[in-house]
Amino acid sequence: MIQDISPKVFNNVYKKELPNPRDYVFSFRGREVLCVLGEDGAVRCPRVEEIGIDKHELIYLFSIDEDKFFLPKKEYGFYISEISDDKSACHQFHYEDIRVLRSARPGDLCFAGMTAYHLYVWYRDNKYCGRCGRETIIHDAERALKCPDCGNIIYPKICPAVIVGVTDGTRIMMTRYAGRPYKGNALIAGFCEIGETAEDTVRREVYEEVGVKVKNIRYFASQPWGFDSNLLLGYFCELDGDADINMDENELARAEWVERNDIGEEAKNLSLTATMMMHFKEHPELFNLKIQ
Ligand SMILES: [Zn+2]
Repeated sequence: MIQDISPKVFNNVYKKELPNPRDYVFSFRGREVLCVLGEDGAVRCPRVEEIGIDKHELIYLFSIDEDKFFLPKKEYGFYISEISDDKSACHQFHYEDIRVLRSARPGDLCFAGMTAYHLYVWYRDNKYCGRCGRETIIHDAERALKCPDCGNIIYPKICPAVIVGVTDGTRIMMTRYAGRPYKGNALIAGFCEIGETAEDTVRREVYEEVGVKVKNIRYFASQPWGFDSNLLLGYFCELDGDADINMDENELARAEWVERNDIGEEAKNLSLTATMMMHFKEHPELFNLKIQ
């Protein structure tokens, strides 16, 4: 999956650190990232020395092995729109849709970009204190923002959501979303609501989206998905009772039971969804177990 960058090591311990010229900068503009997109699919983001930005204007994000990643402080409010206009060294970089990160190489840079984007959105959206309206400042000691007036501390926002593989013997429920850019196969998915356990979310989302009941809910794996500020929690469960589908047409364009052998090879196992589909396809022995 996108977070599996071994043998490289992701380290997100917060530090007040100034960048070196060779460290990387992730600059975002809406849902775009400043990068060079090579013909071979490789994405490269700029180093500090390539964008001529003062080192005091950069926020430390995290490291992967020896590579350190920074965000322009101005993006804690707005992006650096002038960057490619007046710095000749920057002309090779352009703002591209962040979706390039999903399929670009090297993989660890994609994970770094997705995670930097998650942090960017949080910084951008918390410029002002939600309690009293005063402009927030960056916390000295931890990854947080604080309000100098009322003392409100704001931590990064992570939205838990479930991905659900509903199985019925040798079949699994496959869906396609309605009204979204992504047109590929999906599993049932939805956000956890306040007051729910993740298992409650599984039962509710499956019933809302396809109108069936489920049992034997088992946790599979999780995945950070910074493109949408999510932590995805993957569950498998079994159909309980009637298999007839009653699809929510506002959410889904298609929902159907697909035989294990008819599941296509998912080209890239970046996503938890694709990993779960392939897990069901490739490990039938694990799904014959009844786990109560
Ligand atoms: Zn405040």
